Amino acid sequence: MNYYDYVIIGSGIAGLYTALLAKEQGSVLVITKGSIEDCNTRHAQGGIAAAIGQDDSPDLHYKDTIAVGNGLCDEEAVRILVDEAPARIAELVNIGVPFDTLDGRIALTLEAAHSVPRILHAGGDATGEHIEVTLSRRVRAARIPVLEDSQAAEVLVGKNAVAGINVLDCHTGSTEIFECRHLILATGGAGQLFKFNTNSDIATGDGIALAFKAGAEIMDMEFFQFHPTALHLPGVTPFLISEAVRGEGGILRNAEGHRFMPDYAPQGDLAPRDVVARSILHEMKKTGADHVYLDVTHLSPDVITTRFPHIYRFCLDHGLNITKELIPVAPAAHYMMGGVKTNSWGETNISGLFATGETACTGVHGANRLASNSMLEVVVFSKRIMERTNKGAKTGSSAAHKRQEVHRKLSKRNVAGSSPAPSFSSLQQLSWNNVGVIRDRDGLSRAADILETWQQKLPPPTDRPSHELHNLVLTGRLITEAALLREESRGAHFRSDFPKASAEWQQHIVFTTE
Ligand SMILES: Cc1cc2nc3c(=O)[nH]c(=O)nc-3n(C[C@H](O)[C@H](O)[C@H](O)COP(=O)(O)OP(=O)(O)OC[C@H]3O[C@@H](n4cnc5c(N)ncnc54)[C@H](O)[C@@H]3O)c2cc1C
Repeated sequence: MNYYDYVIIGSGIAGLYTALLAKEQGSVLVITKGSIEDCNTRHAQGGIAAAIGQDDSPDLHYKDTIAVGNGLCDEEAVRILVDEAPARIAELVNIGVPFDTLDGRIALTLEAAHSVPRILHAGGDATGEHIEVTLSRRVRAARIPVLEDSQAAEVLVGKNAVAGINVLDCHTGSTEIFECRHLILATGGAGQLFKFNTNSDIATGDGIALAFKAGAEIMDMEFFQFHPTALHLPGVTPFLISEAVRGEGGILRNAEGHRFMPDYAPQGDLAPRDVVARSILHEMKKTGADHVYLDVTHLSPDVITTRFPHIYRFCLDHGLNITKELIPVAPAAHYMMGGVKTNSWGETNISGLFATGETACTGVHGANRLASNSMLEVVVFSKRIMERTNKGAKTGSSAAHKRQEVHRKLSKRNVAGSSPAPSFSSLQQLSWNNVGVIRDRDGLSRAADILETWQQKLPPPTDRPSHELHNLVLTGRLITEAALLREESRGAHFRSDFPKASAEWQQHIVFTTE
């Protein structure tokens, strides 16, 4: 049978959690381009935020989220996020996610820009792995079919609604169409656009590119979060050193040993991520080093090995004993705040097409994401997709909240002149150099020109790597052109030629094809 009530693309927390709920409401197929456990979710360390502590409340969680989002959060979506969080956490506990406990209660830790400890974690710093393993076991137990090594290659849209998906068999190169009533994109982020990133190799912006080509609106793409502290060891792929390490007392020092964050922000080492990332780059420039240090040597070795067993083990395997030595770190691309624009029911502007997880833009993060709100966003809004599509409920697209939006198409640029050959590594280098932590008009214009040339030059895709390159180039164009349009600095988007926020830009950039 090639027709399903729900076809879900992706098998991270968004895909698998949604599949478990969808199974209660109809036939379901999950399609994923690697193995079921290839995803960013598996790498999440810090945890998942929810106001369940005694000194906490949804109101406080709301205020923290709004503050970090720098004037661009969708307030209605944030209200839903924080209010529905405790119930969704209870469901995760019910399906078996083994959150860490202390004295019989769920243990909570602090992360940057949260006013109180509110981050639930599992296995110390292995939260994502525990969530992914629990969900994939549940999906198998529920006998939900999962098509692995199968890459969604084209969203098919009929006259008024989504019709299905064209899928590439990554082994044979053949394609097959799956028809459905509801198509749910849960394809994750696009960190692979950048040379230094913390993401899994699946994060190639596929959902963004497929949705955009099908006519979906794409919002907030200029807001890409760069995590300040990725391990920076020669020859080692950047590996995230969770913010929870600073939450537990870790201190940033420059190459000369100076504790620098209090010089930049009153919150010191726990300032918002964009502030810490730029401060680190400043210190790197000042000292001529390609990294700074994270110091946890003053913490008890027991705290380090029990709270951060995964980080401790990874560093030790690479010759670094973090209980005794400083950890070299530098910023790396981490999380895509923008994505396929949805309303608070996960609906896009195409009837029957939904997006959830990192590939979606519900508006909860605004210009920057509060740490550990992303996995929470997944469970809250995936549940709402299911409520919306439940038993005959109306699923036609409905207007998003009242957001201030400016609508644009990708520009037609002058693409004369030579540019390097389009390849994965040249794309990553181009984006890191010109569309990274600190941006300006010259660099962004150069990148936008080259990206359009590449898009024209690339031969039609035939296999997974060539589809991914196509998708990343298009996603890169959306990010670069949004960053070029936004002549101000706000949240994760920093322009050295427009270093201040501008009231005129308190609005969202939405790209459309029509
Ligand atoms: C190192 C790291 C640490 C993090 N720590 C935290 C944290 O502590 N707390 C927090 O809240 N968030 C954290 N995040 C962010 C969070 O993990 C992600 O935002 C979240 O897990 C995304 O889930 P997802 O299901 O949307 O995407 P993913 O988990 O990335 O899953 C995407 C899925 O889509 C599949 N896919 C993609 N394209 C296609 C295609 N064309 N066809 C078929 N399948 C496709 C992929 O193979 C994958 O299965 C972290 C991220 C990273 C990288």
